[in-house]
Amino acid sequence: MDKDLVDQVIEVAQRVVAGGAISANGHGNVSLRVPGTDEIYFTAGPSLRNHKASAVVRLRLDGTLLEGELPPIQGAVVNMHTAMYEDNAEVGCVIHTHSPYATAYAVAHRPIGCWVEALAMFGLPTGVPIASYGPRGSAQAIANIRAAITPGVPAVLLANHGVLVFHRSADLAIVVGGVVEEAAQAGINSGSIGGPVEIPEELRAAAIQRAMAFQVKGTQHA
Ligand SMILES: [Zn+2]
Repeated sequence: MDKDLVDQVIEVAQRVVAGGAISANGHGNVSLRVPGTDEIYFTAGPSLRNHKASAVVRLRLDGTLLEGELPPIQGAVVNMHTAMYEDNAEVGCVIHTHSPYATAYAVAHRPIGCWVEALAMFGLPTGVPIASYGPRGSAQAIANIRAAITPGVPAVLLANHGVLVFHRSADLAIVVGGVVEEAAQAGINSGSIGGPVEIPEELRAAAIQRAMAFQVKGTQHA
């Protein structure tokens, strides 16, 4: 095991917990691609809270366990992670949680609309899609996830389960997980006062362009 990568995946888990976009019991899992390879480091512990470095495993994208111990209950969801890495070579981090508000939408079989500007800015201008239910990590569940997402979309709700976020970096995946939860919370909180109103489509494009302009500016060095 590469200690740096183990530390990195643990740090991501800690940041997800600290960010609060997670259920009370901390259920979920985080993975990072070993740069330039078909291998990932995966949190195989039962909870992201106080996840031990000793419970991190190294896997190949075909699901082969290379190092560490993978309990069957955690192994069942590995496919959900590996599929996201296999489908997009740019994906460097996958985060799965049962963050409470997003999971409420997943349980209600309702997608999250683009009623919070940050969704448009972070690659979800048409909101967060929902993948139909399939037993966790099953071929059916993976097929449903693939059917629900379109290229560039970094998150999907998993019906009757939770949420899956995948992005090129851990930083972005953590941010998107937080934005999805925030949008879900706002959607539910606004329910008693008329419900959320989506941003007009033409203005979502403007929000994306503005975010991209800032991103370009941010990469310039003095
Ligand atoms: Zn789960």
